[in-house]
Amino acid sequence: MTTHTTISRIALVAHDNKKKELVNWVSRHQVRLAQSSLVATGTTGRLINEATGIVVERLRSGPLGGDQQIGARIADGNIDMLVFFWDPLEAMSHDPDIKALLRLATLWNIPVACNSSTADFLLHSPLMGGYMRESPDFEHYVHRKLPSET
Ligand code: PGA
Repeated sequence: MTTHTTISRIALVAHDNKKKELVNWVSRHQVRLAQSSLVATGTTGRLINEATGIVVERLRSGPLGGDQQIGARIADGNIDMLVFFWDPLEAMSHDPDIKALLRLATLWNIPVACNSSTADFLLHSPLMGGYMRESPDFEHYVHRKLPSET
């Protein structure tokens, strides 16, 4: 018997030229994703909901702060996986936010998929079921001293 793994909290973002690809990916994995809690930037979330009927919590549109809102959730420990289909062929007005989101996902050791094949790999990984993500230890940062204090 095949047991499907559950990834509890997934964040979804797609730039305009990649939205169709993300909606198609969600449609392909609709059954599995419906068991997860999905959060997305505004337009991405609306298009996913309209195409699939899956409930998606919608944050602000990316250029209006949606990427930063997802980043904040990652920093708060509230996201388990990020699917971020960013556009490698267009410069974005909110490039700094995009970089910040990818930085935080890396910093907090979140699995990230930036294209549909990686997203397929992640979703089908046997590790997803009971995977205990190692939380980075930032104690030294919290208690670090400035050079002037030593
Ligand atoms: P959107 O935001 O889903 O509101 O389009 C995504 C983005 O462009 O960063």
